[in-house]
Amino acid sequence: MSAMLCHACYAEPDAVVDCAVCRGTGRSTRMPLCRDPWNEVTPGLWQGGHDVLSQSRGACVVADQFDLVVSLVSRQGYGPAEGVEHIVARMADAVPDAGASLVLAGLADTVADAVRSGRTVLVRCSGGLNRSGVVVASALIRLGRTPDEALAEVRAARGPWALTNPGFVGYLRRK
Ligand SMILES: [Zn+2]
Repeated sequence: MSAMLCHACYAEPDAVVDCAVCRGTGRSTRMPLCRDPWNEVTPGLWQGGHDVLSQSRGACVVADQFDLVVSLVSRQGYGPAEGVEHIVARMADAVPDAGASLVLAGLADTVADAVRSGRTVLVRCSGGLNRSGVVVASALIRLGRTPDEALAEVRAARGPWALTNPGFVGYLRRK
């Protein structure tokens, strides 16, 4: 895993110098699994993954509890149920290049439109932290949040390790 941001200070200039977790480096090398398969970030918009701490084998299998599922990794046997709209779009866990930025913008538009029209949406990746996080945060920005509000909402829902990919944080703040 490439260097991720420290989950305590996020390498923010005013916090990193005194950060006891990363000892001032702003970096982290570990990223634990989340407890929950998915969490609601804002009403109607959920973020999750395929790998969580839960011991239940079926914990991350989606049935028909969402109207739209956006999967940034695809795995057999993880749903959603037939009849549920399912968008599969592979995305690298890296700084979005021009092509990836276009894909990301399209997904964020789709997710924001669905939430606006009252549909329930799940955006999921592997751990449910970074790739799903950058799509959800981009959708939140379209729904009126500032980039920093979007970052905070995603981390509040999925835990402090969400959006620790520095490339994604930079992408969101450039919006
Ligand atoms: Zn730190």
